[in-house]
Amino acid sequence: MFDITRYAVAAESIVDAGRFLYQRGWSPATSSNYSARIDDEHIAITVSGRHKGQLGAGDVMVVDLSGQPVQSNCRSSAETRLHTVLYELFPEVGAVLHTHSVKATVLSRLLEPGRALELEGYELQKAFAGVQTHESVLTVPVFDNTQDIDALARDTKAWFAEHPEQPGYLIRGHGLYTWGNTMADCLRHVEAFEFLFECELETMRVRP
Ligand SMILES: [Zn+2]
Repeated sequence: MFDITRYAVAAESIVDAGRFLYQRGWSPATSSNYSARIDDEHIAITVSGRHKGQLGAGDVMVVDLSGQPVQSNCRSSAETRLHTVLYELFPEVGAVLHTHSVKATVLSRLLEPGRALELEGYELQKAFAGVQTHESVLTVPVFDNTQDIDALARDTKAWFAEHPEQPGYLIRGHGLYTWGNTMADCLRHVEAFEFLFECELETMRVRP
């Protein structure tokens, strides 16, 4: 059982995030999915197929850490396990956002297969929790897109168990996953990633 007040707070943070991310063009139509932690065993997450700019309380449901619905007849996103493995791995994580922006999609397709995106020397790297200086390297692994979400969940969990300080990943031709201790942290991470992706694309454009 979960606390209904905590659920309401989590659901509201998801609805607000959806409005912001849709407005920025990072979650077009019914793409993307968002979640927020309720407690050690329960996660609030968007119901599959809902328009992210028009979310209401009925578009958020509860799942347990294995991704199974709790007190709900709705179906959560097909990518629910990509969220829950992050909550399993990092007890301090309070929110996970997955977006489908043009820049994340295009950049992930331009990167050489098998290589991570390395972001280095950008002042804005300090927007990520725990980063104090631009003199650091942010490594963003790029996983190939697949419809086998269980396999991708295993791969991402294994990679981040080894690299717990890295705050996100790309799925090629698909989008971004990032997380934070609070929804505000997580939204800041999305915004910072989008800025850095745009810088990388601009750099490729002027210096191919
Ligand atoms: Zn997706």
